[in-house]
Amino acid sequence: MKEKKFKAIRKSAFMVYKQCPKRFEYNYADPKYWDYGTTTDKSNMKTWRGNEFHEGVEHFFDNLIGETITKELPELFRNHLPQHEDTVVNGWFDWFSDIELKRYQTEDMKYFLPIANELKVYYENTIDRTGHIDRIDRLNETNICSVEYKAGQSYDMTIPDRTTSMNSEIGFYVQILKLSKEYPDYKITHWKVINPVHKKVWMNKISPISLRSVETVFADMVDKIIKKKVFPKKISPLCHWCPYMKPCDPFYGKPLGIDFNKPL
Ligand code: SF4
Repeated sequence: MKEKKFKAIRKSAFMVYKQCPKRFEYNYADPKYWDYGTTTDKSNMKTWRGNEFHEGVEHFFDNLIGETITKELPELFRNHLPQHEDTVVNGWFDWFSDIELKRYQTEDMKYFLPIANELKVYYENTIDRTGHIDRIDRLNETNICSVEYKAGQSYDMTIPDRTTSMNSEIGFYVQILKLSKEYPDYKITHWKVINPVHKKVWMNKISPISLRSVETVFADMVDKIIKKKVFPKKISPLCHWCPYMKPCDPFYGKPLGIDFNKPL
């Protein structure tokens, strides 16, 4: 692949752009742009646990292939997931084993095994887009479902706007799959979120409006990068958790210069 002038857009960067274009600008210029969310460091317990869960379930289905189905099926499922030293993560594996066993017993066996796990997707263009899809399931002969493992408190689809935001996240991947013609024989009709923190599985139809919105936002983002346009700030309560608050706010941490000893 010839050297590219612009870094590819990751899904996380795209979501940051939607939240605040200025924050995206800082993130895109950051030398750690590609490291986001890959910590193996326990100081960020939430991210660490999420990564441990992802890693544990990654080979689950590959390990099941070729196994003989017996009456010890529940043990068989759990045995193909790690026994984790962290009791929280270990409990997540117990729960995951149960839900997948239920799916195995109630859904069409023909479609139980995913057609992809940890799939790296890429679409080349003026500015490329890329990401990792956790899993792709077949629903029937023609339809497929993009599956995400989300081990976070905030990923609760009953919270207003969470489904909208998830439609954008999944929409970003769906557009890459469509544009790169990764699965020409299938229609990507659904998305599913598996959240071990809430012990919930949500499934939704892909929204065509969301897909159009992804393209509109993406085109706007590309235009700003190429033409070096201004990335506006979007001040919100989320600024408190923004890693770029310091460069963004020139007054950050500086005294206001008020002399409290003077009478008003
Ligand atoms: S501090 Fe707020 S306005 Fe500034 S980049 Fe971060 S999110 Fe955007």
